[in-house]
Formats: sequence, C-alpha cells, structure tokens
Amino acid sequence: MPRQDILIAIDGPAGSGKSTTARLLARALGVPHLNTGALYRAVTWALLKRGIWPGEPERISEALDALRLELRPASEGFRVWVDGQDVTDALYQPEVAAHASEVSALPAVRAWLLDRQRALGEAGGLVVEGRDIGTVVFPDADLKVFLVADLRERARRRWQELHSQGVEISPEQVEAELRKRDERDAMRPIAPLRPAADARILDTTTLSVEEQVARILQWAREIRRIRYGIAETSEAK
Ligand code: C5P
Repeated sequence: MPRQDILIAIDGPAGSGKSTTARLLARALGVPHLNTGALYRAVTWALLKRGIWPGEPERISEALDALRLELRPASEGFRVWVDGQDVTDALYQPEVAAHASEVSALPAVRAWLLDRQRALGEAGGLVVEGRDIGTVVFPDADLKVFLVADLRERARRRWQELHSQGVEISPEQVEAELRKRDERDAMRPIAPLRPAADARILDTTTLSVEEQVARILQWAREIRRIRYGIAETSEAK
C-alpha cells in the first residue's frame, strides 16, 4: 500500500522528551502516536510475569510464539494488551524499566516486533517514537528527528514524571538507571541507539516542550504539504 500521509520517526535516549514531543506533535497533526518503547516494555512485562529472564533464549522463543500482543486504538495513541489484558499502566513500573533494555537487546525479540511495527506504519499518518525507528524500522520515514539532552536534565525530567505518578525513587537512582540504559541501548550489536545519517538532531536541554514541538511541527507541515498535498487547514490546531 503506498503511503498516504507523513510518517515521522522520533528517536533518542530515555528522558530526551520523545514521548511528550511525539504526543503533542501527533495531536497537532491530527494523527496517532505509536510509542514503540511500550512494545518492548510489554514483552518485558510478559516475560517477567512468566518468570523468564533475558538469559534464557529458548524459553524466550517459546514465550514469543505463544504471546498475544495487541495495540488497540485509543483517543490519541494505542492501549497495549497482552494475552487479553490491558497492561498499559503497568508498563512504567521500575521493575519493567530495569529489564526492558536487556530484553530489547535480544535479537529474537527485536525480530518479533519489527514486522508488527512496520505493519502499523505502512499507510503513514503516524508519529513513531523509539530508538531505531529512523535507522531500522522505517529508514524511509518522511521526517527523522533525533532528540538529545544532557543526562542530568533527562534524569530530572524522568524523576518528575515518576514522582507525579507516585513512584518512590530518588533522583540519583533515576540518573544511574538512565545512564545504564543509555549505555546498553547504544552498545548493543543490533539496532543500537544512534541517529540515522539523515536525521535532524535536536538538543532539547534548554528548550521548552512548546519550543521543541513547534520546531518539528514546522518541518513536518512543510513535508506534508509538499509530498502529500495535505495543507494546514485540514489539520487540528
Ligand atoms: O522509550 P522507553 O523508555 O519506554 O523504552 C524502553 C526500552 O525499550 C528502552 O530502554 C530500549 O531498550 C527499548 N527500546 C528499543 N527500541 C525502541 C524502543 C525502545 O530498544 N524502538
């Protein structure tokens, strides 16, 4: 199926502002937002629930064969269902976060999720957020943005988010956890965290959310108008 609307890839390390940016960008363009981190978290959640650890490749393959992962469209994005249960809210528990980057380094898990992600983005009209969207999942995305920010600032943002959700964790713990995850995501042999050669790198350390969204929105609207003939008036403001 030929693409009918813009496909945007937003990549970057944890806490760089991907989720907020992708959500607001999608809302402004009137398209859904797919957070692929939630898919890796969902697989992690399912493995932990079955008592399987990342060091057990055979059990992981078996579990993947039996796993039912569904994305159900919600008001702005998708709710994640595993084996008939809505697990969306459970995906941000520290236990899942702590194991997600180990699980996402497993080739079997990445291969299992690759086709699923591609099927969702085939027709375009989607903002996809992750680590390897511009490099591996959609190397032909219409717009690729790689967000970066200082570790300290990223940790501060993530801590605030967790704190407001009632998760008890210290800022130092958050920073250490982010550092470990970044290293693991950047060092893994398959689909490491890195910008695509044609990605636009945006440092958000000193930008407000509104500023970073406005910048990307400007790029997106221009591409959308030129490539897909979709003009401003048909978009939600
Ligand atoms: O973005 P989020 O923090 O929810 O992602 C959780 C984990 O999933 C990341 O630490 C990373 O290891 C993994 N991930 C990935 N590729 C993606 C999205 C997330 O490896 N496209």
